[in-house]
Amino acid sequence: MLNVERLCVKKDGEFEVLHECTSAKNAGVKKQERALYEQRTQQNLQKLAVMQEKLYADGKEGVVVILQAMDAAGKDSAVKHVIGALNPQGVDIVSFKQPTKEELAHDYLWRAVRALPTRGKIAIFNRSYYEDVLVVQVHHLEKTYRMAERCIDDDFFEKRYRQIVDFERYLYENSYRVVKIFLNVSKERQKERFLERIDDPAKNWKFSQADLKERAHFESYQKVYRDVIDATAKRDTPWYVVPADQKWLARYCISEILVNTMNEINPEFPELSDEEKAGLAQCRTLLTADSQEEKEKNKK
Ligand code: AMP
Ligand code: MG
Repeated sequence: MLNVERLCVKKDGEFEVLHECTSAKNAGVKKQERALYEQRTQQNLQKLAVMQEKLYADGKEGVVVILQAMDAAGKDSAVKHVIGALNPQGVDIVSFKQPTKEELAHDYLWRAVRALPTRGKIAIFNRSYYEDVLVVQVHHLEKTYRMAERCIDDDFFEKRYRQIVDFERYLYENSYRVVKIFLNVSKERQKERFLERIDDPAKNWKFSQADLKERAHFESYQKVYRDVIDATAKRDTPWYVVPADQKWLARYCISEILVNTMNEINPEFPELSDEEKAGLAQCRTLLTADSQEEKEKNKK
């Protein structure tokens, strides 16, 4: 089966960068193997549910999963089918839309900081502060910012790359894991999915004319994604480039990545101190005495 570590970009490491990898075929996976992959995804989801409970009980590490992609790459469906299997109590799902006036009046990491999960929880960022180096770079939006001129210079995005690397390092050093996933869809498959959205009335709401305008910049986005991933993939805060043309394969990859991350965290149910154990034993005695009393009462 496909080893997702092959899709992992860890800049300082020995890993291959697979920017061209959009489909099962590119990834060396046969379509006949689909059932096997789906089965493995289900097993992963069951494992994740158990590990998530431990993560929550342990409360020592927080997890931020960043999902980035072009339109129709399957972010929403990944959230529904993979993240949907987790206990909603331990998960925050945050969508990063066009910034509001209030958000634009702050630094770009402000809204991400506010969205960080408490330790023990998993936050799914459906888009993220990476939009501030992606869409903003492709459309030169930095020129529209109300910021001092000294800040908007030729190194604008280079500086943001550094800030993002520093921010993620800060999170890692403060007991957070940041896992970044780029769902890599081909231009061809995006077209097919757009056509489905146009042709199927039940999917019309998913399509907006603005999506076509973005599609016109597909190649620019690919280039910028490549730069961004190369600049911000680090050993402890890696990027995964996941082939997204087949949703069953993307879901398998995401579930594997999450299981691997949880294995690294290795959460355990908290061990009670001797004093706490004695307290529990005392409660047990009280409760059983209680039920003994109830029985006596009922007899009468
Ligand atoms: P969707 O995820 O399809 O609901 O669309 C959200 C839209 O908001 C996308 O087109 C994003 O590119 C856009 N967006 C998110 N963050 C920013 C940002 N910081 N600046 C400009 N546009 C953004
Ligand atoms: Mg959209």
